[in-house]
Amino acid sequence: MRDLDGHPELCAINTATLGFTAPISEVIEAVARHGFGGIAPWRREVEGHDVKRIALLIRDTKLKVTGYCRSTFIPAATDKEFRASIEDNKRAIADAAILGAENFVMVVGGLAPGSRDLAAARRQVAEATAELLVQGKAHGVKIALEPLHPVYAADRSCLSTIDEALDLCDRLAPASEKMLGVCLDVYHIWWDPALERAIDRAKERILSFHVCDWLLETKDVLNDRGMMGDGVIDIRAIRAMVEKSRYRGLVEVEIFSVANWWRRPIEDTLKVCRERLASCC
Ligand code: ZN
Repeated sequence: MRDLDGHPELCAINTATLGFTAPISEVIEAVARHGFGGIAPWRREVEGHDVKRIALLIRDTKLKVTGYCRSTFIPAATDKEFRASIEDNKRAIADAAILGAENFVMVVGGLAPGSRDLAAARRQVAEATAELLVQGKAHGVKIALEPLHPVYAADRSCLSTIDEALDLCDRLAPASEKMLGVCLDVYHIWWDPALERAIDRAKERILSFHVCDWLLETKDVLNDRGMMGDGVIDIRAIRAMVEKSRYRGLVEVEIFSVANWWRRPIEDTLKVCRERLASCC
């Protein structure tokens, strides 16, 4: 297993970790200055701004762009809304290409508004992913499906397990194409009794690896994620599985923490991220 201690260049910062409090230019500079190897920006920091200029800023720092976050939710009540979400995601994939992002991260969405039909939501996700994969190939951007913890099945992701995501990948594209895969986030996968087997199955499908921690006394499953080492996830054990499965990409920190980390100066958060990546991941 790779040693992260003293090797922040093997790690990336997902900008959500820094709470979107500083402009993207400042965030890019700070992430590079702390020695990290990559950055994963969010659409809210990019859309409506000069995408090419942001891409140049990142290129100047030599940071890799591990991923571009994230897809507009797919499941929709009407065909018109379904089409609109696909078109919106296509535009985002074009921006991902300008940014030089390795992956477009897909958080697929839960039930369509007003619906109880989870199977229909999953069918829409499969159909949309097939179409977005075509756009990804045209732009040289990989599509990374991120399964989310089942607690979000209603509102954020009807794709809940690694195996389910891999089944969808296998239906849509051979692994050898290396254009469609999964983004594995310890927050969403740590509880899975089939974890080791699923990660072993994933092999070259693993496009991205996110770390944070699950706090024992979680107050909000969306916005109370913990810093690595502050919770109950055996992050190092999961990273060992992922690397045994031949993942060699960056280890990306992604912490949504409205009441804690998002209130701290980004310099402090980056410093602690670097320490915890070395000691707890
Ligand atoms: Zn994630």
